[in-house]
Amino acid sequence: MENCVFCKIISGEFSTRKIYEDEFTLAFLDISKDVDGHILVVPKKHVKNILDCDSETLSRVMDTVKKVSNHLTQNCGYDGVNLLNASDESAGQTVFHLHIHIIPRKNSDGLECYPKLPGAKFELDDMLEKLKMM
Ligand code: 5GP
Ligand code: ZN
Repeated sequence: MENCVFCKIISGEFSTRKIYEDEFTLAFLDISKDVDGHILVVPKKHVKNILDCDSETLSRVMDTVKKVSNHLTQNCGYDGVNLLNASDESAGQTVFHLHIHIIPRKNSDGLECYPKLPGAKFELDDMLEKLKMM
């Protein structure tokens, strides 16, 4: 897609540091250098985020997320991973081509990768009534 930075990476127009690639997906180092080993997994097909993603594309992305995560823990000295995704501007998405962030973790590395949330305003049962799907 025109003007999509991740499509330009996928097409080769922009260079990147590739970690893994297959027919449907690409994993590469995030440029931010905010933490060592920050990886993004994207589908080669342009979809905006999880909200418009078809299940086959999502499944390919998650297969690659698992493959890369297993590689990090089995071959690269990490113990676990955090997976992060922002879908929509309201959630903090800044690049509008679906991507899953992988943050490699080591025991006692001290990283804070889970957002600090402000505390719930409503009772759990009220939220259940509002949100339940069956
Ligand atoms: P979001 O805020 O949408 O969840 O994450 C977008 C991510 O894309 C950010 O972590 C940002 O550092 C990364 N990013 C933006 N532009 C580029 C780029 O040109 N190359 C790479 N490798 N990462 C990028
Ligand atoms: Zn794109």
